[in-house]
Amino acid sequence: MITFNKPYLTGKETEYIKDAVSNLKISGDGVYTKKCHKYFEDTFGFKKVLLTTSCTDALEMAAILLDIKEGDEVIAPSYTFVSTVNAFMLRGAKIVFIDSANDNPNMDIELIEKAITPKTKVILPVHYAGIACDMDRIMEIASKHNLFVVEDAAQAIDSYYKGKPLGSIGHLAAFSFHETKNIISGEGGMLVINDDRFAKRAEIIREKGTNRSAFFRGEVDKYGWVDIGSSFLPSDIIAAFLYAQVENLEVIQKRRKEIWNIYNTKLSKLTAKGVRIPFLPDFATNNAHMYYLVCNSIDERTKLISKLKEKEIHAVFHYLSLHNSPFYKDKHSGNILPNTDHYSDCLLRLPMYFELKNSEVEYISEIINDFYNA
Ligand SMILES: *Cc1c(COP(=O)(O)O)cnc(C)c1O
Repeated sequence: MITFNKPYLTGKETEYIKDAVSNLKISGDGVYTKKCHKYFEDTFGFKKVLLTTSCTDALEMAAILLDIKEGDEVIAPSYTFVSTVNAFMLRGAKIVFIDSANDNPNMDIELIEKAITPKTKVILPVHYAGIACDMDRIMEIASKHNLFVVEDAAQAIDSYYKGKPLGSIGHLAAFSFHETKNIISGEGGMLVINDDRFAKRAEIIREKGTNRSAFFRGEVDKYGWVDIGSSFLPSDIIAAFLYAQVENLEVIQKRRKEIWNIYNTKLSKLTAKGVRIPFLPDFATNNAHMYYLVCNSIDERTKLISKLKEKEIHAVFHYLSLHNSPFYKDKHSGNILPNTDHYSDCLLRLPMYFELKNSEVEYISEIINDFYNA
């Protein structure tokens, strides 16, 4: 069976975990958390980062930091993971879903301004498959209307927009290290703070609303309750796992890109059959988070999934449109989002992980080509 995902272990994970345990500082912000923070700040030039227990937590921190209140509006794509918007719903926001672009699942930039009202507070671009949204345009619109931008960069580690790392452009950004992402810690995430105004408060929110981080740095002589917050920081054991991964980021990325390129070469002829392959705008790089196809119809996709399953290949689809979800459909404006619905019905993700062999990628591609040539 070729599974859809297999977490890749670099080999150092358990060694670093043992070391973290023997340091006897296994709660948050220990040695490995600091190493990870330094790595991400140095490697990607992020102004300030804070590891969290998930990308979901990082997004929830963002919503608290931006003081989202009942009635505030947030503009987001409907074709995304629940957490992107759920974090803002928790603070009482109304989500204004806009459609995906025609040529890739990222939000359609042309629809943002029309969705802005006096209540709009935030634009939430999601870099789907690690491929950048047009951030210059988004930042321009945000600045014109005095809005904040939070990048959902869950899938976007080591990916770039016009040479700038994704996650470094919006006021805030959230990454995921869930075991399905490029670098992993089982569950895990990171908040990036690019706007200094939020740096101090982010630490407090992450530490249950206390100024404990400042206390540990010796900046205050006692710590106490100074704001709202929660426990968003991971144990140093999780950071130890993650550190083994970041040390191997280049190796991991190189292999994932090789796999991605084989798929792309082998499957590019399918465009003649109406099937769409990932589209990379000129301003974006590819971090090989995902390889996907957009089939012609839901029926075609269902048949292709069964064909692959017959050959013991596990391919999956995802993102049921959020505007049609049981939780949100009665709250949605009624706007029809045809591209979102199309991706939701027709997008198929192919197996993609470090240890996938070239021969397996070729085999999967062959089965798919045979399906379309039959
Ligand atoms: C994976 C993912 C998340 C959630 O990440 P967690 O770390 O599991 O909370 C959020 N948004 C997008 C786009 C994702 O792909």
